[in-house]
Amino acid sequence: MVRAILVTATSMALTGAVVAHAYLLKHQFYPTVVYLTKSSPSMAVLYIQAFVLVFLLGKFMRKVFFGQLRAAEMEHLIERSWYAVTETCLAFTVFRDDFSPRFVALFTLLLFLKCFHWLAEDRVDFMERSPNISWVFHLRVLSLLGLLAVMDFLFVNHACHSIITRGASVQLVFGFEYAILLTMVLTTFIKYILHTVDLQSENPWDNKAVYMLYTELFTGFIKVLLYIAFMTIMIKVHTFPLFAIRPMYLAMRQFKKAVTDAIMSRRAIRNMNTLYPDATPEDLQASDNVCIICREEMVTGAKKLPCNHIFHSSCLRSWFQRQQTCPTCRMDVLRASNNNQAQAPPPAPAPAPAAPANAPAAPAPNVAPGMLPGFPPGVFPFWGPFPAVPPPAAAAPPAAPAAADAPAGSTDTTQAAGKTPRTLPLTTVILTQAI
Ligand SMILES: [Zn+2]
Ligand SMILES: [Zn+2]
Repeated sequence: MVRAILVTATSMALTGAVVAHAYLLKHQFYPTVVYLTKSSPSMAVLYIQAFVLVFLLGKFMRKVFFGQLRAAEMEHLIERSWYAVTETCLAFTVFRDDFSPRFVALFTLLLFLKCFHWLAEDRVDFMERSPNISWVFHLRVLSLLGLLAVMDFLFVNHACHSIITRGASVQLVFGFEYAILLTMVLTTFIKYILHTVDLQSENPWDNKAVYMLYTELFTGFIKVLLYIAFMTIMIKVHTFPLFAIRPMYLAMRQFKKAVTDAIMSRRAIRNMNTLYPDATPEDLQASDNVCIICREEMVTGAKKLPCNHIFHSSCLRSWFQRQQTCPTCRMDVLRASNNNQAQAPPPAPAPAPAAPANAPAAPAPNVAPGMLPGFPPGVFPFWGPFPAVPPPAAAAPPAAPAAADAPAGSTDTTQAAGKTPRTLPLTTVILTQAI
C-alpha cells in the first residue's frame, strides 16, 4: 500500500516536472505538446504515468466489483497474467511492423480487461462454496459481466469493421481475442445463473454438475472453432501465430476433457452420493478441517472418500466434473469404488524361487490390509500374471540379491513364518522385478 502511494506520487511529480519544463520552454499549448512527443525521455515519463494510471484504475475497479480478493484468486490472477504477458510479447514479434504507442495501449487494455474476465470467472466459481451470497455480490457480478460483455462486443465489432474496410491487420488478433473473451463472459454468465438457481433451491441440485459440464462442452466447442478459424486466417494472411499455440492447445484439451468428463463425472458423482459416507464431527476433528479444494474451513456438508480424505461435497462435485481422483492423494475414485464392489483381485502370487523355505506360506493370496495400497491393475503393465513356473534364467539369481538386500527381514520371516508371512512375498516380488 505504502509502495503504491510512493510510486504514484513519484510518477505524478515526474510528469508534473516534465510538463512544466516543456511549458516553460515553449509557453504555448500546441508547441508544448509537440515538444513532449518529440522528446524520448518525456515520453518515457508519460508512458510510466499512463501505466500507473491504468494500475490505479485497475485497483479502483477491483474495489468496486470485487472488494477484497481471496488468496486463491490473487494467485490465479498473477499466474495467468504472466502467461498473457509472455504471449503478448510473442505477438509483438509477429506484428513488429505495426508497433506503435497505440498498439501497446490496445494490448494493455486487452490485458486489463482479461484480468477482470478471469476474476469474474473465479468469483462466480466461488459462489458454489460460499455460504451466503449478498445482494451486493449479485449486483457486482451482474454489472461487471454486463460491462465486460458490452466492451467485448464493441471491440469485436470494431475489429470486424476495421478488417472489412482496411484489410487484415493486427485488428484480427484483437477481434479474435475479444471473441474468445465474449465466450468466456457467456460461460461465466451461464454458470452464474446455474449457481443462483442452485442457491435458491433448498436441497442440493445434483443435476447442476451435468448442466455445468454441458455448458463447458458447448462453449468449449465454440472456442475450438474460433481458434481453428483464427489459425487458418492467420496462416493465410500473415504467418504462423506462435503466440496462440498455448491457448489453442489448452482450449482443445479442455474440450476433449469435457467430452470424456461428461461421461466419467456422472459416474463419480453418482458414487459420491450413494457410496461415500458423510464426514462426522469426529472425522473433521481428526483431520486438519480445511478443504484443500477451496481452502475454506469445513463445518457441514463434507464427504469422506474411500481413502479417508475429507472435502466439501459441493467442492468434490465440481472437482469430479474435471477429474475423478482424490484431490489429495490422486486415488482413482471410480476404480476404488469398483474394487470395493467386487473385492480387490489378489495381487500377483509370489514367485517360487525367492524363498523356498517360505513356499508353503507364500500362496496366501492377499497382502495384509493396510500394508500396501493394492496396486490397481494396469498401473504396472509388466507385473502381469506371473507364470506358475518362472523362467529358468530368473530362477537362481534373484534369490541372492533379495537375501543380500534384506537379510534381517528374510530371517525374521522364516523364523516367525506364522506371524507375518504375507509381507515377504511382496517384497521379494518387488525385488525380483526390480532386477
Ligand atoms: Zn471446499
Ligand atoms: Zn485421498
